[in-house]
Amino acid sequence: MIEWRHGAPFSPRFGDVYFSAEAGPEETEHVFLAGNDLASRFARLAPGQTFTLGETGFGTGLNFLATWQLFQIAAPPGAQLDYFSVEGYPLADEELAAVTAAWPAFASFGKQLAARWRRRVPGWNRWHFAAGRVRLTLAWEDVAAALPGLPDASVDAWFLDGFAPAKNPDMWNATVCRELARATRPGGSFATYTAAGWVRRNLAEAGFHVEKRRGFGRKREMLRGVKPGVWQPVPPAAGRVVVIGGGLAGTAAGWALARRGLSVQLVEAAPVLAVGASGNPVGVMHLRLAAGMGPLQRLLLAAWGHALAYLDEVLPVDGEQRAECGLLQLAVSAEERRRIERLSALAWPAHLLVPVTGQEAAAHAGLSVGLAGLWFPQGGWVAPGALCGQLAQGLGLNLAQPVTALAPTLDGWRVETGVDLLNASHVVVASGHTARRFSPLAHLPLQPVRGQITEVAATVASRQQRCVLCGEVYLTPARGDRHLLGATTRFDDCGTDVRLPEQEENLARFARQFPTVYQALGGAAATLVGGRAAVRCSAPGAMPVIGEVAPGLFVSLAHGTRGLLTTGLAAECIAARLTGTLPPLPSTLVAAVTPQRFARLDMPQGVPAVHP
Ligand code: SAM
Repeated sequence: MIEWRHGAPFSPRFGDVYFSAEAGPEETEHVFLAGNDLASRFARLAPGQTFTLGETGFGTGLNFLATWQLFQIAAPPGAQLDYFSVEGYPLADEELAAVTAAWPAFASFGKQLAARWRRRVPGWNRWHFAAGRVRLTLAWEDVAAALPGLPDASVDAWFLDGFAPAKNPDMWNATVCRELARATRPGGSFATYTAAGWVRRNLAEAGFHVEKRRGFGRKREMLRGVKPGVWQPVPPAAGRVVVIGGGLAGTAAGWALARRGLSVQLVEAAPVLAVGASGNPVGVMHLRLAAGMGPLQRLLLAAWGHALAYLDEVLPVDGEQRAECGLLQLAVSAEERRRIERLSALAWPAHLLVPVTGQEAAAHAGLSVGLAGLWFPQGGWVAPGALCGQLAQGLGLNLAQPVTALAPTLDGWRVETGVDLLNASHVVVASGHTARRFSPLAHLPLQPVRGQITEVAATVASRQQRCVLCGEVYLTPARGDRHLLGATTRFDDCGTDVRLPEQEENLARFARQFPTVYQALGGAAATLVGGRAAVRCSAPGAMPVIGEVAPGLFVSLAHGTRGLLTTGLAAECIAARLTGTLPPLPSTLVAAVTPQRFARLDMPQGVPAVHP
């Protein structure tokens, strides 16, 4: 919660202002931008290089907007900015919009930030601006929890902006300073408005060469410093990438890599994109959390926020291919009721999820559901085929080309199809459970899981349904003349035929869990108008498999039923790893999803010179 005092945003929690009332942007320019010598360092970047900025205290976003503006002016075309910032207490939507509106110079940037801001989730957020030229990683957590998530030597310059040290010592303590130094690249810098002696000592003991400079305005002094070494930004990303698989995982990976300036060829066995598990007419944007916050839950939260923001860029809500109608998770069983009660007891931001009574649920649903539950106002549905189509624009497409062999070469990988032979510096395999056919991936414990969805004719009564309803099955609101109901689960079954018993199973489970809505569909007279079965890919613990298997060989696999959520973030992880830039997830989660967790004992240590 902010208050306005003498024209400046003020934090009652910390008893300090976010920036000075008279001259916020000028102070940012003097202390942080000039203090880190950013104009000339940005200008020295080569096209394809990335500069990584870190900040303690995102606050109103003023520093971010000013840095973005300077980057647009000073950096050469093709250079990119990664901006990492920690914020324990993010402003409310209206607060951020009100504060950023106060700076006419950043008006258009501020509006773009506000549009992403509503997608924020606890934990790490990754948002793109300026068509991917600027990436913001916002860690919504305490600074002590956030900084250890950064890789060693990954940040080029820091803004230390965590309220006055006397009022907020936790932002400046010795542990924080050591983490800052660890995460700084050799020759990297920091700047801060404070000149407090104990902060200077903490930074010096952590390994920075610290110096005092003239402060801004009435402040006599400020600090800046460098980590010993010769500063060199990340070298430009280069290479030819082949992505295998034209579903959500593959097209998303191709898109993320192409955005970073790499040339990408996508190879797909079928004559069109999105024919496998990504081929359902619609998929639901559904965040199913357990009450504990283990790695899978943290990954899903990050993936949810990422997916919403990334969809806003790639496939904006139009009611045809994507709807943000909201989603209800209802207490359809004793087990679900317990899960929902445990989740409801935690503090969630209202834009993410809200516990609702049966009456409130009915008001959201547009028809009686008779059950309490959780309301996800940003839930909805997406047509995955349309998303794949958007993502694939700009990629070289090699359709109807089943890959017959994937083998290492002297300087990369060779991908053979019946038609062609493609040499690549890097390969991303995103072909679901069939990926195990490639010998370098044969050790991955991927499991096929068949799922069938059922389409039911809409009725006058069922057209009242406004949001997605989820229990153990889900029902989308009518799209055209039908609702989509899903889905069955059959482990180790690779059949894609539509089976009547599974159609009946979907409908029977729905009738049991949502009897009133079932009546709206016509009850026993409900008309089945279609169905589709596909094979998903799963791995132990339901954790996707994302990352580098061997040098130059990446996978984005085992997204299970959550491909709409996790494939975009997976693509971002792979793109970050491949280009040596900041990952969108903290180190613990990068480690939780990596294929290295299934390390093969005979895995080559470098790219082998001979074929296996
Ligand atoms: N850089 C900001 C800007 O451009 O508006 C101003 C940052 S303000 C001076 C300090 C920020 O640090 C506040 O937004 C506050 O919520 C955040 N903060 C304070 N203590 C924190 C902590 N322990 N962990 C994470 N964030 C914290």
